[in-house]
Amino acid sequence: MLCEILSSTYKVLEAENGQEALDVLEEYGEEISLILLDIVMPVMDGYTFLSHMKANSNYSSIPVIVATQSDREADEVAALSHGATDFVSKPYKPQIILHRVASIIHLRETSAMMHRVQYDRLTGLYSKEFFYHSANNILKQHPDQEYDMVCSDIENFKLINDVFGMPAGDQLLCRVADVYREIVGEQGICCHLNADQFVCLIEREHWEYTDDLFKKVDDQIRSMTNMKNVTMKWGIYHIKDRSLLAEQMFDRAFMAARSIWGQYGKHFLTYNDDMHNKLVREQAITGVMETALEEEQFEVYLQPQYNIKTNSLSGAEALVRWNHPEWGFQSPGEFIPLFEKNGFITKLDQFVWKRACAVLREWDDKGYPPVNISVNVSRADIYNVNLPDILQDIIKEYQISPQRLHLELTESAYTENPSQIIENVGRLRELGFLFEMDDFGSGYSSLNMLYNLPIDVLKLDMEFIRNETAKSVTPGILYFIIQMAHSMNLHVIAEGVETKEQLERLASIDCDYVQGYYFAKPMPCREFDEFLKGIKK
Ligand code: C2E
Ligand code: CA
Ligand code: CA
Repeated sequence: MLCEILSSTYKVLEAENGQEALDVLEEYGEEISLILLDIVMPVMDGYTFLSHMKANSNYSSIPVIVATQSDREADEVAALSHGATDFVSKPYKPQIILHRVASIIHLRETSAMMHRVQYDRLTGLYSKEFFYHSANNILKQHPDQEYDMVCSDIENFKLINDVFGMPAGDQLLCRVADVYREIVGEQGICCHLNADQFVCLIEREHWEYTDDLFKKVDDQIRSMTNMKNVTMKWGIYHIKDRSLLAEQMFDRAFMAARSIWGQYGKHFLTYNDDMHNKLVREQAITGVMETALEEEQFEVYLQPQYNIKTNSLSGAEALVRWNHPEWGFQSPGEFIPLFEKNGFITKLDQFVWKRACAVLREWDDKGYPPVNISVNVSRADIYNVNLPDILQDIIKEYQISPQRLHLELTESAYTENPSQIIENVGRLRELGFLFEMDDFGSGYSSLNMLYNLPIDVLKLDMEFIRNETAKSVTPGILYFIIQMAHSMNLHVIAEGVETKEQLERLASIDCDYVQGYYFAKPMPCREFDEFLKGIKK
């Protein structure tokens, strides 16, 4: 009868007794939306069935409606106390049964959906939204309890994913989640934010933060995953300012963690006032950067580059300078990383490229020897699909051939997302632009990758030159890198050349070009003009 009532709206599976029903459950599990159960059955009765199914987490959450003899309160109470969701009494009233079934299924599906939104699929920890929401609530409800926001990320997680594969990466994240669950316990809430980032809100003094604690966590994760090099960096924010949102508290904790990236043996850092001041300063810079560009506070400096063999000027690198009317000279080492973070770098770079082309035009008009200018291209630029158009418009405007504008892209951009970079760089090279790989030797220089990358010039990093030229071993690694670059038809330029010894060493191993304080510091375009005028004479 029930089957008849329901089968026009639902797919109905039938079982003659409790044991059969358990077999059906085993096969379909949570695909089943609802169970209608008669208590009186042969082989296994309804109550026994209920206790079996409630004990199995694969299907214990499926709602059960028990069919009882009419109006026997004792039956109804017994069913509910065994874990049934609701009951219907015989004789069956089709309309009532249909409504009850529909509303219970709806209720369950909504709560399942809520559950999915609340929990991260991979690790089962709280999802980002739910974590922030809960954290804000907890902080509001317990104004007198002190809390910390603690976060972590895994050093070189991308590399781990590349080397061991995504499933192993996922495994690792699940183990990190286990560790969080274990050490946070009932004293807080944890969340898998995204990728390799985790965060928890935890009662103060639940943990004593020591290098030892975090070292143990690393060891634990290493032994659980068999990945010997996994290292986590932790950031802690002792929540002082309760007016902040949980998101901002995380930002502070993360800022602390980020500041120890790459520092061997450092496991955690607590957010402090210096970081706070840095944040305030970053906000101040962000507030004035647009105006600074409009008011021409930025100026392009040029640093000469020389051909070692002919001992002659070959070009220049354009480096931006910022002279703020009140703050004075600002270091690019500080504002460039910030602009890369907030996206303003794309605007500033375009300004520099334009100035560089304007300068080239001016020189050509004056009849100076045709030198090149190298400009920096940041990673945000290279992912911009309009970059070829932008660059072409600029060189057209100033009637410069693309070979005169060398584009410097840092090595780390190449190693981060090689396939996309290869594609975009390839398109620009087809248009005639030349590419230099900047800072080679500063990061994960992959010699193997060098073969696949579309580049024209290898620019050796300053630190690399400094270290290598200080060694007495000959011929040394620099020699082999230069040989290899030449065998691939790449030119090599060394930056940051500061001494005569460095220059001689580089000349002896066949380096093509040099740039550095030994020759000249970056200078305003006017001054560089004097240089060129001298050569022309
Ligand atoms: P970079 O591209 O590696 O530029 C070389 C840096 O080394 C410049 O610092 C330059 O002044 C400095 N330098 C050159 N020769 C020597 C030397 O012999 N010894 C020492 N100690 N330093 C030398 P700067 O101008 O402070 O720029 C720092 C970084 O800021 C640049 O590193 C580059 O990554 C970025 N940058 C500068 N201008 C721009 C720009 O217009 N756009 C973009 N995207 N980045 C820029
Ligand atoms: Ca550069
Ligand atoms: Ca460089």
